[in-house]
This record gives sequence, C-alpha cells and structure tokens, in this order.
Amino acid sequence: MTVLVLGAGVIGVAAAWFLRAAGHDVRVVERREGAALESSFANAGQVSAHLADPWSNPGTLRQLPRWLLQPDAPLVWRPRLRADQWRWLALFLRECTRPRYARNLLQLCAFGYYSRETLRALRAETGIRYDFHQGGILLFHTHAEAFDQASAAARKLEAHGIKRRVCSREECVTIEPALAHMRESIAGGIYSPYDETGDAHQFSLALARLGEERGIGFDYGVTVKRLILEGGEVKGAEVVRADGRSEVLRADQTVVCMGPHSAQLLASVGVPVNIYPVKGYSITMPIRDEAAALRIGITDAAVKVAFSRLGGRIRATSTAEVADFDLGVDRRRCEALVAHVQRLFPGAGDASQAAFWAGLRPTTPSNLPYIGRTKVPGLMVNAGHGTVGWTQACGSGRALAEILAGHRPEVDFPFLGVT
Ligand SMILES: Cc1cc2nc3c(=O)[nH]c(=O)nc-3n(C[C@H](O)[C@H](O)[C@H](O)COP(=O)(O)OP(=O)(O)OC[C@H]3O[C@@H](n4cnc5c(N)ncnc54)[C@H](O)[C@@H]3O)c2cc1C
Repeated sequence: MTVLVLGAGVIGVAAAWFLRAAGHDVRVVERREGAALESSFANAGQVSAHLADPWSNPGTLRQLPRWLLQPDAPLVWRPRLRADQWRWLALFLRECTRPRYARNLLQLCAFGYYSRETLRALRAETGIRYDFHQGGILLFHTHAEAFDQASAAARKLEAHGIKRRVCSREECVTIEPALAHMRESIAGGIYSPYDETGDAHQFSLALARLGEERGIGFDYGVTVKRLILEGGEVKGAEVVRADGRSEVLRADQTVVCMGPHSAQLLASVGVPVNIYPVKGYSITMPIRDEAAALRIGITDAAVKVAFSRLGGRIRATSTAEVADFDLGVDRRRCEALVAHVQRLFPGAGDASQAAFWAGLRPTTPSNLPYIGRTKVPGLMVNAGHGTVGWTQACGSGRALAEILAGHRPEVDFPFLGVT
C-alpha cells in the first residue's frame, strides 16, 4: 500500500518507520528543511510513561482562579476571538471532573507504557542514539500537603500496574544526589524508576536517516495545501514545493501528523478534532560542573517545571499558555527557567550560553491523542499528543500500522476506527 505521511515531527517520523516496517511504500512531506524543527525540537525530553498526568484534572480546576490572576502561573489563558479556543477550553473543563480524569489518566499511562516498551525495542533493534538515559524520573514536592495527596494517589494507582514509588526526602536525594543541597526543603517525591529521558529532535533525525536507508522517502521544504477528496475518499494531498511549484501526491492512505496544525486540514474534509496549540518554553544550557548537574529526569511539582539531562546539556521547560499559534519567546519566562536551574543545580550549567525556545503542544482537552482511521476512507490521523508526544511517538506509530493492518493494538486506549 502507498502511504503519505503529512508532517515530520517526532510523531510523523515514528509513524513512517512503523508503516515501512509493516511493508508499506511510505513517503513523508514536511514544510520545514528537516525533521522535528517545530513542537518536537526542544521539549523537556522526558519519556514519562508512568508519571504522565492529564492537565485536565480536579486540581487544575481548583487552582484555576488563582492562576488566572498570577502573571507567572504555570497555566495561562490568553483569550482570543477564536471559536476553537473557547470550545477547546469548555471541553477541557469538562475533562477535569474526577471520573473523566481517572479514565484519562489510566489510558494515558497504559499507552505510555506500550509506547516506552516500543521505543526500547526499537533501540535494541537499531542501536539508535539520542542522548538517552534510563534512570527514571523523579517528581519532587516541596509542600507536605501536596506530597501526601500525590502519595495517596500513587498507592491507589499501583493496583492498576502503574509504578510510582513514594520516596522520603532522603530517598529523593539518594536517587538524585544533585538535590542534596536543598534536602531540607523537599517534602518527598514520587519516582517512576523505569521512565527515561532523551532528545526528541536527535531521535527524529536519526530515525529519519535510518528510515531513508530502509526506503522511506522524505520530502522537506514541501507544504501541504489541501487533501485530495474524490468520490468521498481521500486520495492524497496537493503540496507546494519551496520553488512555488504545486504538485498532487497520490496515495492509498494519507496520515495527518501535523501536530498543532492538524485540526484545520482535517476540518477541511469534514473531520472535526479538538486539537489546540498550548505554548511552552524551554531553555538548554551546556553543563559546566558534572558533579552539580542532574543525572535523571526531574520535575519540580510545585511550579510544574521539568528538567532533563541530555548528554552534556541541561534542559528545563515550563508553562502552558493557551493563546494561539504565535511562537514568540517570552524572555522573562525563559530567564526564570535559567534562574530555576541555577537554584536547583547551583553551578551546574553555563547560563551565559542558555538557548531559549518556544513550542506549541498539540493538545486535546483530555490529553489523549487521536490515532487511527477517520470516517473518511483513505484518511488517518495521528495527532494531538499534547504534553506527551515524545513519550507516545513510537507507540502511536506502531499502533497506527497495526490498525492499518486491521488489528486492534493490545492496549486499553480509545483508538479511532477500531471495533
Ligand atoms: C515546552 C514543551 C515541553 C514538552 N515536554 C515533553 C516531554 O518531556 N515529554 C513528552 O513526551 N512530550 C513533551 N512535549 C510534547 C511533545 O513535544 C509534542 O507532543 C510533540 O513534539 C508533538 O509532535 P508532533 O510530531 O505531533 O508535532 P510537530 O513536532 O509540531 O510536528 C508536526 C510537523 O508538521 C509540519 N507541518 C505543519 N503544517 C504543515 C503543512 N501544511 N505542510 C507540511 N508540513 C506541515 C510541521 O512543520 C512539523 O514539523 C513538550 C512540548 C513542549 C512545547
């Protein structure tokens, strides 16, 4: 079968890989000059299967009134005259109820596990390298009450096979010695020992290279203009090349993997999806003092800042800004991230060389992505991975290939078009 993959972020590249492995003739088109230059470029790097938590949860609902008044709040809403923003927000609030949150959390973790294991198998098969580290992720708390609540939740989740280890202050410092200097302010932590970290951009570049060797065609500098709809079926896409030439690319199946830009294209053929851009920031700085630097993935629960060690670099990310598609970098937010790294890991990084970045998380109200067949024959979707697209990339690609082959992926997840 010929398959056209639209978009070469980490989701599109991984999908192309698994579709090719299933024997399809795969071509990927991407408007940028290379793979993973948009949302997948400088994320937090955490492959977080068992610590992932939907943003839409009862806690968010409780804190929202305070956050709306707080200029440096982790979640910021900038109202726009856009019906899609208001609709998304209303649906997001609906997902914050306890039963919906509980269901979304279990499915997010189940799919995260499936995806993390798929990533490991791919690594074993190919030897792919991307500054990964298998040391787990530690979410530490500085407020005792929040820690007690997180501990109770972790214990309950154990019954569902979700491995979140409750750790004392001393255990946190043993797991991550770089936190020893602030031991007194740590109330405790939740540790997910089998999670990992790695650079999603490097991964995508390396996987695209391996994919090319296995026969996947990658066309960069090619922008998708519209889907070709004939007799009620999608037959490919019309694209425009960098030199302005238009071309129609035909395929048996077309897969939309355009991250935050997927919704508009899908809507053009009558497939409505609720994917809205939620902006975040990251800073990356070289490590100056190995001994002071973190070794594993860390999240500071009180301020929702995530950190990773990526080879010789430290990455820190924060903020969920529900605004629009603007990619401007808020320097104050990034400078605050640099200061946070210096506070948590004093002397570890070279702040004078910190690189600032902003990216858009393609987010659904439930935090669960759309993966599978749409109601339009010939058209599939793999988008809306929000906060966990790096974690879920390999699982999404593998599941998509299985669905195309007519199988139900073996994981509790609401895939599209699967009976
Ligand atoms: C600050 C921040 C921190 C994050 N931290 C983590 C983390 O620690 N762990 C985790 O798992 N996830 C994390 N994420 C989320 C993760 O980065 C995203 O979910 C993921 O990158 C989405 O990948 P994608 O391929 O769907 O989107 P993208 O990477 O944006 O890829 C979509 C591609 O489609 C292309 N495209 C769009 N329109 C067109 C068109 N018309 N024609 C051709 N091509 C087009 C774009 O150029 C782009 O390359 C984070 C995100 C942010 C912003």
